[in-house]
Amino acid sequence: MGECEFMEKCPFYNDKLGNVPEKVEELKVHYCRNNNLHCARYMVVNALGKDRMPVELYPHEKERAYTLIAAG
Ligand code: SF4
Repeated sequence: MGECEFMEKCPFYNDKLGNVPEKVEELKVHYCRNNNLHCARYMVVNALGKDRMPVELYPHEKERAYTLIAAG
């Protein structure tokens, strides 16, 4: 829990993803600055590695993260 160690390089945090959700700042506060363990991107990078990260995966898309991780 807490501030995410990937903030400096994370494409989501650094506004490098397209289709930016309206609540992007809320997502950053909720996940990146306070609760990284619940972030879909954080789950995928830790379980599968950054090479397997979908280009546009957002922190709140946990179901998508679970599906990717379950598929291996
Ligand atoms: S989107 Fe997830 S992985 Fe990226 S900085 Fe925020 S909490 Fe960390």
